[in-house]
Amino acid sequence: MPELPEVETVVRDLRPLVVGRTVLGVEVGDRALRKPWDAAWVGRLAGVTIESIRRRGKWILLDLSGGARLIVHLGMTGQFTAVPTLALRPDHLHVVFTLSGLVELRYRDIRRFGSVVLVADEATAMASLDAKLGPEPFDIPPDGFHAAVTGTARTLKALLLDQSLVAGVGNIYADEALHRAKLHPETRGTQLTRPQVNRLREAITAVITHAIEKRGSSIRDYVGGSGLKGGFQDEFRAYGRTGEPCPTCGVPIERVRVAGRSSHFCPQCQRVAKSR
Ligand SMILES: [Zn+2]
Repeated sequence: MPELPEVETVVRDLRPLVVGRTVLGVEVGDRALRKPWDAAWVGRLAGVTIESIRRRGKWILLDLSGGARLIVHLGMTGQFTAVPTLALRPDHLHVVFTLSGLVELRYRDIRRFGSVVLVADEATAMASLDAKLGPEPFDIPPDGFHAAVTGTARTLKALLLDQSLVAGVGNIYADEALHRAKLHPETRGTQLTRPQVNRLREAITAVITHAIEKRGSSIRDYVGGSGLKGGFQDEFRAYGRTGEPCPTCGVPIERVRVAGRSSHFCPQCQRVAKSR
C-alpha cells in the first residue's frame, strides 16, 4: 500500500507534468472505486485548469481553477500517472483526464480500494482531511507527541499506524522507524521514557525523509507519477526481511503479528521494554 513517501513521489513527479494544463475531458470506467463517482463531476471538470498539486498524509490534492479540489487516494494498488495521450492504455484504468498539451492523467487501480473525489472548495477538502489526520512527519510537535504516546497502553505499532498521531505512516515505515529507534513493535506507549519517545519521533522523520529521497518503495504495484519505480525497497532494515540478518547486529529478523499487521523486528536490537 502506498504510504507517504510513495504519495509524495507521485505528487513531485506529476507537478511538472500537469500543473498549468486544462482538463479537456474525463472518461470514467464502469466499475466503482472505494467512493462513488458523481456523473455531474465530468461537466464541472471540463475547462478547469490544474493550478497546483500537493499532498496531505497519504492523500493527493489537485487545486483547480474556480476553487474546486480533486482528492485522490491510491488505496492498495492505485497508480496516478501523467503520460502522452498516445501512450498505450493498460487495463484497470478507472478515471482518465484528457489534458491540454496531449497529456493524459490516468488513475489505474487493480484492486479498486482507492478513490477519486471532487469537492467544491478548499474548506471542504481540508475539513475532511484534517478531521482524521495528525501532523506530517516533518513537524511532529515534541511535547504533543510525547503526551500522545505515553498516555496510552496501545502498542507502538498500533500507534504508528494511527493516522491521527502522525499522518502518512503505514506498515512499511512503521517497522523501519521502530527498527531505527530500537523499539519493539509490541512495547506499549506507557512504557516509554522521554528519550525513547524522542528517538521514535526522530526515527519517523528520518525514515520518511530518506524514503522520499529514494522515491519510495516499489514492492507491488506502486510507481511514481511518471511511471518510474521507487528504490527504498533495497534499503529496508526490517520490513519484509524475516530470517535475514539485522543490518545492525546480524541476528535474524523476526516477524510477529501486532495490531492486525505483520511486524518485522530484530529480537536483539528491539527488546520489549520492561513494564514500569
Ligand atoms: Zn539487530
